[in-house]
Amino acid sequence: MTETIPTSITANRAQARLTIEWSSGRVASYPFELLRNACPCAQCRGGHENMKPEPDPGVFIIPLMSANATRLVGIEAVGNYAINVEWEDGHKYGIYNWHYLLALADEMDKHAAKGK
Ligand SMILES: [Zn+2]
Repeated sequence: MTETIPTSITANRAQARLTIEWSSGRVASYPFELLRNACPCAQCRGGHENMKPEPDPGVFIIPLMSANATRLVGIEAVGNYAINVEWEDGHKYGIYNWHYLLALADEMDKHAAKGK
């Protein structure tokens, strides 16, 4: 089995979206506020015991945070398995690995299907 990895990662600040092209051919476009709501760090998840390999479906119903919490400063690669996102409010603890981002894309698809 070949692992699905990003072939390109683009942050578009004007659209407030992070677009990832995956080696599987899938293209997922993540709104910044969703990424921030889904921040997988211990602080955002309410403690290490709540950290999960998949995003909590509840991230879709969390109200939007203040603007600077969802404004992206930068993205850094973490090894070859994840990205670390830094936000304008100084929060930069989330390590979004490929598995997590793909699961988040699945949740976005499910959510979009439900909304139709
Ligand atoms: Zn966090």
